[in-house]
Amino acid sequence: MSDIRVTVWNEFRHEKQHEAVRSVYPDGLHIAIAEGLKEHGITNVRTATLDEPDNGLPAEALAETDVLLWWGHMAHGDVADATVDRVQERVLNGMGLIVLHSGHFSKPFRRLMGTSCSLRWREAGEHERVWVVKPSHPIAQGVGPYFEVPQVEMYGEHFDIPTPDDLVFISWFQGGNVFRSGCCFHRGHGKIFYFRPGHETHPIYYQKEIRQVLANAVRWAAPAVSFENPYGMQKAINEKQALEPIQ
Ligand code: ZN
Repeated sequence: MSDIRVTVWNEFRHEKQHEAVRSVYPDGLHIAIAEGLKEHGITNVRTATLDEPDNGLPAEALAETDVLLWWGHMAHGDVADATVDRVQERVLNGMGLIVLHSGHFSKPFRRLMGTSCSLRWREAGEHERVWVVKPSHPIAQGVGPYFEVPQVEMYGEHFDIPTPDDLVFISWFQGGNVFRSGCCFHRGHGKIFYFRPGHETHPIYYQKEIRQVLANAVRWAAPAVSFENPYGMQKAINEKQALEPIQ
């Protein structure tokens, strides 16, 4: 697909309430994320935020989205269940979903995983080294054997997710923990990528390698083909034969 239609969704609450976040992302995390994609030639990008009508994701907007990126943290509970239903349905019908950082606890991700998605965490501005553990994967292209993120919030195992279909990154943290930081899943006809880095008080979405990974992930998660709904009652291909007893 040459012109992937992307929606970057952000709850957009921290930026309004906390100066420490606004100073890093003055226009909102979604704008920084969208700019990173545009740098990589993914230009058909719109943004949506929680406090817009229908949580920014009415059915028409989702119908025109090939890949949805999701950043949420403090307001997971404010996402309407009807929004979660719409996102889940679109993923099952082929939309790509990229869940960022604290989105591990978002309603859509937990719904699609079916597990608690709990993890260990620590806010200490630690150093993170993100190792590529599947170098042949499209999402790992262009970042070398590993890359560093200078200051992060730590997420540590155990991360209560189903075993990923593909594991692309594992992180090591200064404080000693490790974490499955880049996880691919398939649900129905849709692809899902969870990517760990991205705490709101650190300038992570401006970092070169992070932007490369997100652009790679959008291209990987975009539906490769369109197809007609193959489900429901089907007449026998040869109705007469279908009624004859098998010899
Ligand atoms: Zn965080």
